[in-house]
Amino acid sequence: MFHVEQCHKTTTQNNQNIKAMNKELLLKNLRNIPDFPIPGIQFKDVTSLFKNPDCLREMDDALYELYKDKGITKIVGIESRGFVMASSLALRLNAGFVPIRKPGKLPAETISETYGKEYGRDTIEIHKDAIDENDVVLIHDDLLATGGTMLAAYHLVKKLNPKKVMINFLIELEGLKGRNTFPADAEIECLLTLEGK
Ligand code: AMP
Repeated sequence: MFHVEQCHKTTTQNNQNIKAMNKELLLKNLRNIPDFPIPGIQFKDVTSLFKNPDCLREMDDALYELYKDKGITKIVGIESRGFVMASSLALRLNAGFVPIRKPGKLPAETISETYGKEYGRDTIEIHKDAIDENDVVLIHDDLLATGGTMLAAYHLVKKLNPKKVMINFLIELEGLKGRNTFPADAEIECLLTLEGK
């Protein structure tokens, strides 16, 4: 059974917004798959939230409330579960959507980062012209585990010199302490914080 709390670094206003979200509904619908993709991993299957229209609406509204006044011009989604809410939020905020993808998937000139993750190593890429110095960027992914994927994404986006970069997750696995891998001034928000790994 998971215990749910707000993320540590949320502002008062953000906390009020997150409280208004129906966490119980999301928790009830979040499927856990033990030992996937390898033994020892408790895989949080967010597709069980994406397939439920009420859960989609809860998450979409909560994200909109969190970010509606931040002047965001680009939302970066991390392949592939990060694409879902990133693109719907981009539409609501009248911002652009930018994909971060696995190597060899993006057709134009890219920059890349390689990093370690909870299971194995990986590389991610972004189009070099996807972001410029006038952009205020939110990077979104479904889940914060060790933080390796998002930290690589954060470095990647920073190389393109935007005005500001913020970070968002649907779910944080608090026990893995992924937050500690980020610089102290990183603005990180998440909708659900689950105890454990
Ligand atoms: P990490 O880089 O360790 O923070 O891992 C985050 C990425 O791996 C995200 O894109 C997640 O989709 C995926 N991931 C890692 N661990 C899990 C887990 N226990 N349940 C679901 N997704 C996970």
